[in-house]
Amino acid sequence: MKGPDHAFVYAPELAGFDLSADHPFKPVRLELTRTLLESCGLLQPEQLVTPAPLAEQALLSVHDHRFVEAVKAASRGEKVPNAQAYGLGTSDNPVFGGMHEAVLGVAAATVTAVDLVASGQARRAANFSGGLHHALAARASGFCLYNDLAVAIRRAVDQHGLRVAYVDLDAHHGDGVQWIFYEDPDVLTVSLHESGRYLFPGTGHTYETGKGAGRGRSVNVPLEPYTEDESFLEVFDLVVPAALRWFQPDLIVLQAGADMHAHDPLADMSLTLNAMQESYRRVAALADELTEGRLVVTGGGGYDPYRTVPRAWSHAWAVLTHQELPEELPGEWLDEWRERLGNAAVNLPTTSREDTRDFAPVPRRAAISRRNRLVAARTIETLQELWSSEVDGGRA
Ligand SMILES: [Zn+2]
Repeated sequence: MKGPDHAFVYAPELAGFDLSADHPFKPVRLELTRTLLESCGLLQPEQLVTPAPLAEQALLSVHDHRFVEAVKAASRGEKVPNAQAYGLGTSDNPVFGGMHEAVLGVAAATVTAVDLVASGQARRAANFSGGLHHALAARASGFCLYNDLAVAIRRAVDQHGLRVAYVDLDAHHGDGVQWIFYEDPDVLTVSLHESGRYLFPGTGHTYETGKGAGRGRSVNVPLEPYTEDESFLEVFDLVVPAALRWFQPDLIVLQAGADMHAHDPLADMSLTLNAMQESYRRVAALADELTEGRLVVTGGGGYDPYRTVPRAWSHAWAVLTHQELPEELPGEWLDEWRERLGNAAVNLPTTSREDTRDFAPVPRRAAISRRNRLVAARTIETLQELWSSEVDGGRA
């Protein structure tokens, strides 16, 4: 079976991961993104791939079976003793009927994306419903129930024999993925995020560098709140290429959470779409350099669902497929969504890019950049010491 060169993994029911009407995690982001790409002519019907069903057993490759049983019971509407210990029924992770099936479906979509790329059926694949990076082995956390990323990465390692570099550009630390692979020699996790001193989940310090056989394979750059484009890209260049070139991955998985943007209401970063798009380009270039282009992209956070997320992810897909969004977004897309969204439609964007002059200058810019530079240097120094004992990420 030969799939498309670029696969956009999609099923309408992926938008079924709907935590509650007033929850900030909005599945409508997915439909806004897909329809925007289609109306721009950047997504062809043959690129849409339906996720293959995933056996529940796959969840157990990273999740504790008692946790999965608790989720299933809660999902069926049963009362679960100890629900709080599993992170269920909190304001971040409310319980809803059918949640087990819904999030198993998200994991199936990310696994499909990884399978397509790992098997050579597609060179690149995206699943923007995925990216639930906070889910821990035995606990739901931060809007994330099952860790689709970890399930898919585990599979890439165990079944396809690949070494995987995971790059997390969400505003929040990619803690779930990091901890699940903390002692694993075949998975490198790299997370750039707003410092845990200010933001959930509070981890992602420079000294979290991996353990045992995973030593030197966990990379963290905690950034200052209000970090802007230039400083973000500077830090990216200081850390990400060096880490990936040392590790020599076979596959890159990018978590493209869109909450580093200045308009995001849940985080405090000050990026524009320009830096986000540029960071996707740099990850894609690293894939061309190191993995023969093999790259899987997921979504993640992003709580400015109309104005920011659809454009961020459309730029990500455009980068993956060597295309560009048009300057002016299509009128038919705007008309359709103005009708569907009603009042919320005032936040729909009309252009694909942002003019940085529309963003108020951040006070203390120089101090923020200086501090980020120092932290990045500390991260890389700490790691280089660990890396010096292993050439080629221990591959040799
Ligand atoms: Zn986030």
